[in-house]
Amino acid sequence: MAENYDVIVIGAGPAGYHAAIRAAQLGMKTACIDAALGKDGKPALGGTCLRVGCIPSKALLDSSRQYWNMGHLFGEHGITFKDAKVDIGTMIGRKDKIVKQFTGGIAMLFKANKVTPYYGFGTLFPGNIVKVKQHDGSEVELKGTNVILAAGSDSIELPFAKFDNEYIVDNVGALDFTAVPKRLGVIGAGVIGLELGSVWKRLGSEVTVLEALSDFLAAADAEVAKTAAKEFKKQGLDIRLGAKVSKCEVKKKEVHVTFTDSEGEKTIVVDKLLVSVGRRAASKGLLADGTGVKLDQRGVIEVDEHCHTGVDGVWAVGDCVRGPMLAHKGFEEGIMVAELIAGLPGHVNYDTIPWVIYTEPEIAWVGKTEQQLKAEGIPYKTGSFPFAALGRAVAMAEPAGFVKVIAHAETDRVLGLHLVGVGVSELVHEGVLTMEFSGSADDLARICHAHPTLSESIHDAAMAVDKRAIHKAN
Ligand SMILES: Cc1cc2nc3c(=O)[nH]c(=O)nc-3n(C[C@H](O)[C@H](O)[C@H](O)COP(=O)(O)OP(=O)(O)OC[C@H]3O[C@@H](n4cnc5c(N)ncnc54)[C@H](O)[C@@H]3O)c2cc1C
Repeated sequence: MAENYDVIVIGAGPAGYHAAIRAAQLGMKTACIDAALGKDGKPALGGTCLRVGCIPSKALLDSSRQYWNMGHLFGEHGITFKDAKVDIGTMIGRKDKIVKQFTGGIAMLFKANKVTPYYGFGTLFPGNIVKVKQHDGSEVELKGTNVILAAGSDSIELPFAKFDNEYIVDNVGALDFTAVPKRLGVIGAGVIGLELGSVWKRLGSEVTVLEALSDFLAAADAEVAKTAAKEFKKQGLDIRLGAKVSKCEVKKKEVHVTFTDSEGEKTIVVDKLLVSVGRRAASKGLLADGTGVKLDQRGVIEVDEHCHTGVDGVWAVGDCVRGPMLAHKGFEEGIMVAELIAGLPGHVNYDTIPWVIYTEPEIAWVGKTEQQLKAEGIPYKTGSFPFAALGRAVAMAEPAGFVKVIAHAETDRVLGLHLVGVGVSELVHEGVLTMEFSGSADDLARICHAHPTLSESIHDAAMAVDKRAIHKAN
């Protein structure tokens, strides 16, 4: 006999746990199923984000940044030291402790909100029946008035570079190296490749990043991408664009990576190879025959703007549906669906989802780039401000980067905010708020910003839109 629920969520990543907790808050009897196990072999909620994504990568980015700054920033402040050492075991242990704290935190939140967890693999059958194969081999059957699919995504594997978890790794392996690889190869100069490449570069690896596209960070504002590329080069990250990898062979504990670029075929030899060429929806095994839920040719679950699959009571959210693969996009979709099920006006504004790359300098943006606006024929004006002219950034010895505000040429409405520099993962939210409230560059320019702060850069950039910046020539 199936156990009945108002809402069954498959997947307890950012999208799934938000959906489950919000549904339970709204008084619905809710279950959430997750198959993942932590490093200790025990169930670990929180999905890619908490186990092997956002949080552990940021823990290692922060640890490695401290070490890098000792060698590259402290001297400027007049601070010297002898014999700096890094203990990778301690660093990874700290990361693991943070992961455990947060994955355990989701279990506690489920308990506090009366969400019933099921630990195992869930499959949706016709009629909103969900069968769960639990880790002990037993099977339970649930029936949901509503089912929310939140299965997330997995790393894409290249046919000629299969993950062996020792020499050729994905994010999971690259977050768990036991020693600093002398030479690290990275295939893919996207967010994950740049972040994890930065971690090991800062700790001493020689890092070579091979990117098939000829444009660096094509999704970002072109000036932002150019500035970031210059800074990465200064740090010694060897980024090769237009480099198409065709072969990877492990020989005598080394990986031989063959690629072709504008100069012809070349091979580099590395100790570890991170393959970060994107992620694909984890929809394999999720749907039994006859559910009516449609997948596109890449396995992405098809949904409308409200994340409804078109099948009565079946919804899908997060990385397994269209849109950017970002944890906070999943958060908002999970909440939206729970609220829609409860009859509330749930909504996600896909135009104001911020993007952040947590490199040094950080890169962040919201809204449209100049390239996009040009392509769409939308008239715009821009104002920018360099961190090199910003009191706080210079006081911090972090002068790299700039902020750019893009506003509609006629209405002055803010259409985009693009940033590269220290702390911009926080600053980007000024743009999110302004755009969410349909604010103008003039609104931003007239809002009093504390001095000296990093956020003043946005104030000055907004003033520069109308050529009235005070701290730079207009
Ligand atoms: C290295 C790395 C760094 C990242 N950094 C950031 C960042 O800084 N900021 C950001 O916004 N995003 C980041 N991301 C992306 C972010 O992790 C994802 O966008 C986010 O986790 C997606 O959430 P989700 O809930 O859709 O799926 P997931 O987090 O993938 O969770 C899905 C869960 O469902 C479970 N599951 C799947 N199928 C089933 C099934 N049939 N039965 C039971 N359980 C199932 C999985 O085990 C998993 O636990 C990063 C990703 C990586 C890999």
